Amino acid sequence: AKAEFDRRICYYEHDMDEQARQRRDIARDLWTAVENNGFSLAYQVQKSVASGEITGYEVLLRWNRPGHGNVSPAEFIPIAEECGAISAIGVWVLKMACLEAASWPEPCKIAVNVSGIQLAQIDLIDTVRNSLFMSGLAPHRLELEVTETSIIGDKNRALHILRQIKAMGVSIAIDDFGTGYSSLDTLRSFPFDKIKIDRSFMNEVESDEQSKAIVRAILALGRSLSVPVLAEGVETREQLDVLRKEGCTEAQGFLLGRPGAIDWNDRLEPGLRA
Ligand code: C2E
Ligand code: CA
Ligand code: CA
Ligand code: CA
Repeated sequence: AKAEFDRRICYYEHDMDEQARQRRDIARDLWTAVENNGFSLAYQVQKSVASGEITGYEVLLRWNRPGHGNVSPAEFIPIAEECGAISAIGVWVLKMACLEAASWPEPCKIAVNVSGIQLAQIDLIDTVRNSLFMSGLAPHRLELEVTETSIIGDKNRALHILRQIKAMGVSIAIDDFGTGYSSLDTLRSFPFDKIKIDRSFMNEVESDEQSKAIVRAILALGRSLSVPVLAEGVETREQLDVLRKEGCTEAQGFLLGRPGAIDWNDRLEPGLRA
C-alpha cells in the first residue's frame, strides 16, 4: 500500500509538473505573439430582440498558436493575466479593434473585453484615449465589457478608472452578470450602461422555471434601473422567444451569429436573409 501510495503521489507530482510546464510554455508563446502580431480579432453580432436590428459587435480575441492551432481565450487569458502579458495584449486589442471599426462601412458599436488586471492599472485611461484618438473612432461607438469579479480588487481605483473612461463618452457593460458574488453591490456602485446576462442562465431558460425566474428578475432589475439588458449564449429560437416575451433588450449567441469576420455584403442586403 505504501508503494502504491508513493507511486500515486509521484504521478500526481508528475502531472503538476507537466501542467506547470505547459502553462510556462503557453506564457512564453504569448509573449512571442505579442511581439510578432500573433493575434487576430473575431466579431460577434449583437441584435435588438424586438426589431432584429444590429446594435453592435463584441470583439473576441483569437490566437493561432504556432504548432498547436487555435487556442481558446478561455484557456489563454488566465495565463496571460498570470504572466503579465495581458496588459500588452489588452493594449493591442483596444487599438486594433478601434482601428478596424473606424474603417467599417457602417458606424456600428464595438464591445471590447477588459481584464481585471487592466482595470487595476491607471494607464488603461490613456490606452483608451489613445486608441480613440489614433483611430478617429467616435467614443460613443466603444463599449468596455467588465466582469463583476474583475472589479472587486481595488474597488476605488477601478471606479476611478471607469469614471474617467465614461467621461470620454465610452460606455461600460457588466459582463457575465449573475455569476459573481457581489452582483447587487456592483450594480449599486458602478457607472454601467448595460447588463449582460451570463450565458449559463440561457441553457434551460425555455424549460426550467428556476432559470426563467432568474432571467425575469434580472430583466426587471434592468427596467427599474433604466439600463438595457443583453442576454448572451442564445442558441435556439425558443430561447429568443422567451426573451422577447420577457422584454429583454438585446441578444447575442450562435442563433444570431457566430464570432468571425463581418460579411458586409450580407449585411447590406438584409432582405435576402431571414
Ligand atoms: P465572454 O466575454 O463571456 O465572451 C463570450 C464567449 O461566448 C465567447 O467565447 C463566444 O464565442 C462564446 N459564445 C458566443 N455565443 C455563444 C453561444 O451561443 N453558445 C456558446 N456556447 N458560446 C457562445 P470565446 O471567444 O472563446 O471567449 C471566451 C472568453 O475569453 C470571453 O468570454 C472573455 O471572457 C475572454 N476574452 C475573449 N476575448 C478577450 C479579450 O480581448 N480580452 C479579454 N480580457 N478577455 C477576452
Ligand atoms: Ca464579454
Ligand atoms: Ca460574457
Ligand atoms: Ca464568460
